[in-house]
Amino acid sequence: MSDARVLARSAELFAGHRMALHVRTDRLFAWVMLAQWAFGVGVALSLSPFAWAGRIRTTHAHVYAAFLLGGVLSSLPIVLAWRRPGATATRHIIAVAQMLWSALLIHLSGGRIETHFHVFGSLAALSLYRDYKVLGTATFAVATDHYVRGIAWPESVYGVVTPEWWRFLEHAFWVIFAVAFLVSSCRRSIEELSRICLRQAETERLSSLETEKSRALDHALTELAASQEGLQRLAALGELTASVSHELRNPLAGITNATGFLRKKLVDAASREPRIQQFLDIIDRESAACTHIVGELLDFVRERPPALLPCPLRPLVAEAMSMVPRRGAVELSNDVRDDLPVPLLDKEQFRQVLINLIQNASEAMAPGRDGRVTVRAEAGEGRPLCLVVSDNGTGMTPEVAARVFQPLFTTKPRGTGLGLSVVQTIVKRHGGRIHVDTALDRGTEFRVEVPASSGR
Ligand code: ADP
Ligand code: MG
Repeated sequence: MSDARVLARSAELFAGHRMALHVRTDRLFAWVMLAQWAFGVGVALSLSPFAWAGRIRTTHAHVYAAFLLGGVLSSLPIVLAWRRPGATATRHIIAVAQMLWSALLIHLSGGRIETHFHVFGSLAALSLYRDYKVLGTATFAVATDHYVRGIAWPESVYGVVTPEWWRFLEHAFWVIFAVAFLVSSCRRSIEELSRICLRQAETERLSSLETEKSRALDHALTELAASQEGLQRLAALGELTASVSHELRNPLAGITNATGFLRKKLVDAASREPRIQQFLDIIDRESAACTHIVGELLDFVRERPPALLPCPLRPLVAEAMSMVPRRGAVELSNDVRDDLPVPLLDKEQFRQVLINLIQNASEAMAPGRDGRVTVRAEAGEGRPLCLVVSDNGTGMTPEVAARVFQPLFTTKPRGTGLGLSVVQTIVKRHGGRIHVDTALDRGTEFRVEVPASSGR
């Protein structure tokens, strides 16, 4: 899982750890420098504090060397470790100073072999930087010092005045021997550090993914709780709608019956007062509209799985056509053949499908135009039953066509926008699908497809 983000984070962690290591080691060397200075002065004072020039006792040059040279050697690294810790130049200067400290101590001890161990101790301490280049700088510094002093002042390095010319090579060999191991250990621990950083970056990434996931889960749960609440309210609203619609049906039927009765009884009065006829018509029309709305609401909220029974199509279409209120000159044509295989359908629900589609089609006729609504069917052994309701009405724009199945979408002043939603629900419950094909000013065709003999 080493994607770019993980690699970048791992590089960032690596740089951070390495910088911290360099800063820590710089600070450590600042203390080492101080301690060496004190030690150097102590050694000079205890080994050769005074010299005699004639009768005058003077302080030996070594004491000055320890104090002044040691001060110069230690002060720059201390200032750099304090002011610029972690900088590349700081650790290389510390490396050079440390090796020159070895040289100074060797010189102060008159080239004692034991003091040469300071070189190896210093190299080991410098390897704390885990930077093999620092060891390179240190090796170069010690080699240069031995070479130059070996020529100019051999006894200060080797303790004898005339050493063999190759003595500096012998020293250099042992230094390189030690440095080779230290370099390899530096490289190994840097590799280990970079592996650790990669693992840490991967762990961080995983835990941030987990956090993101659990945050998304929390969010989804909150939304779920909210939508559950919304659903409960909708369910309550559905029940209320169903019971109100149901309760309204009887009073509406009563109004229709009462109007019919009054219409008969008031024939004479209506011939004298034309408004009586007008008002009776209004009562009829409006209560029919209310009955229609109540019917659509009930169809919408009622959830009943289809009860599938053999259902001949042509008579069903004829029945639906007879139930659609007539509109002007709209002609309804039942083109379903009699010899089609008999499908398994919920008769009542499918009649509702046909009524809604035929009613919409006859309502879509432009005034003054000869309207025609046709229902035809295609079916065959094993093939799905396909019912097509087409009209030559106003058609729809693509925007309207895209929304016709949405509940409450209507373009009619007194429409409910529930008819096609109910149609779609019933068709889906039969395991079928519905499709609309329309062209503005040319007409519309609804195709309902249901499996030949199945339902849900
Ligand atoms: P309503 O009939 O109450 O408006 P519907 O769900 O039955 O609700 O229809 C939604 C809308 O779809 C209608 O308002 C109308 O704009 C459009 N529509 C449906 N059938 C046709 C059709 N045959 N021709 C043109 N438009 C139609
Ligand atoms: Mg409708």
